[in-house]
Amino acid sequence: MLEFDYDLFVIGAGSGGVRAARLAAQMGKKVAIAEESKPGGTCVVRGCVPKKYLVYGAEYGSSIAASEKYGWSYENLDFNWEKLRDSIQKEVDRLSGIYSNILNKNGAVVYNERAEFIDKNTVILTSSKKKISAENILIAVGGRPWSPDINGVEHSIISDDAFLLEKLPSSILIIGGGYIASEFAGIFSGLGVKTIQAYRGEHLLKGFDKDIRLRVGTHQKINGIDVRYNISPLEISINGETYNTHFDDDSIINSDLVFMATGRRPYTSSLGLDRVGVKTDALGSIIVDGLSKTNIQNIYAVGDVTNRLNLTPVAIREAKAFIETLYGSEQVEYDHSNIASAVFTRPPIGVVGLNEAQARELYGDDIVVYETSFRPMKNILSGKEEKCFMKLITEGMNEKIVGIHIIGDDSPEIIQILGICVKAGLTKADFDNTCAVHPTLAEEIVTLNARA
Ligand code: NDP
Repeated sequence: MLEFDYDLFVIGAGSGGVRAARLAAQMGKKVAIAEESKPGGTCVVRGCVPKKYLVYGAEYGSSIAASEKYGWSYENLDFNWEKLRDSIQKEVDRLSGIYSNILNKNGAVVYNERAEFIDKNTVILTSSKKKISAENILIAVGGRPWSPDINGVEHSIISDDAFLLEKLPSSILIIGGGYIASEFAGIFSGLGVKTIQAYRGEHLLKGFDKDIRLRVGTHQKINGIDVRYNISPLEISINGETYNTHFDDDSIINSDLVFMATGRRPYTSSLGLDRVGVKTDALGSIIVDGLSKTNIQNIYAVGDVTNRLNLTPVAIREAKAFIETLYGSEQVEYDHSNIASAVFTRPPIGVVGLNEAQARELYGDDIVVYETSFRPMKNILSGKEEKCFMKLITEGMNEKIVGIHIIGDDSPEIIQILGICVKAGLTKADFDNTCAVHPTLAEEIVTLNARA
């Protein structure tokens, strides 16, 4: 029997890595984990958590404006970016500390430095040069923002930087039409920054239901965001304190700041994967099977580094399934179907299951689409133009629900519960049999009519 320093070594203390390390340690395994940055990973340190706080910050601004008809008036209204930024960072540090404590309390050894592979059972910690061996190694290093290689790209910021800005710009150009671009456009506009979002496609949020895509663009405009479609950036130059971004339609957009939100890539470069022969795809994503195993027998990967479904709760579930398989009595394959998710635009989006185009491709004319669009009660009094839209798609004689799409306040909260219904295979009749909770926005989901 070969002797190793640890049963399991985890590279990356983000959501997936920490969950795997903690569960293995709780099962009595000898575990170590390496993290080059703060424990907590993208979600806690430079993603979901600080982003959601920024969204809350932006919403306060629009709520104040909308509260006038509710009788409120304010004098000397002021917004202090530094205060919001610093309170968020304090909370990030607190949460990161909790992650470290969880690991320590459960007996996992934490190395606060970068680890790279030497061979299939050995990593080297790059600062201390310490070599550590382990029977099994889990790669959970996540992804990193990616920017196109255009002239002057070094003048732009990425999402990591957006949380730490020294001061708020008076204008910002956000390039991209995906999650991060659309969410941050809502944040900056809500904080009073003149915001331009430039996207190379026809409608924002590729991959989402067409009706959601159309409406998110409308809402961005209602929020004062200047959305420009069908343009791609070619070059960024500086003119004094202003950045000039040149696009392929010969237009130039001037702004105080340029934010590249053009996607993320798995963080696999210089991990030493070539030394051990772990296979990756063209984007650098680690290729794994349903049990999160790579082509190397004792090396596994979970989370964004595998580029399956890049969501925090998915990484956590993959990690749990991996540990149950490795150290439990049966093989547990995590089922990636019908995972509900949200986009924190203003208003936000909640989605589960198939969009209409996907449902039609799969089931042809056997689908029924139910939908409604209405002005939420809160907005009627305040005079806010924003409408809520809901779409529910069923399939077959029994009208099994295969997709739900909502854009409107609280849709992330609503979709979490609807996710249970879709995962459980409920039908339209089950929804019809459920009495409404009045007056709410969510009640519309149990009173939907088929599209005319
Ligand atoms: P996305 O893939 O969502 O968006 C990237 C955007 O950049 C797309 O609009 C894409 O255009 C555009 N783009 C790509 N390359 C270029 C280029 N060369 N020039 C111009 N535009 C370009 O990535 P994000 O970084 O926004 O998010 C990454 C992932 O992180 C998401 O897919 C999601 O899984 C996760 N995430 C989840 C969140 C949530 O759950 N709320 C929040 C934030 C991130 P096109 O559409 O044409 O490809």
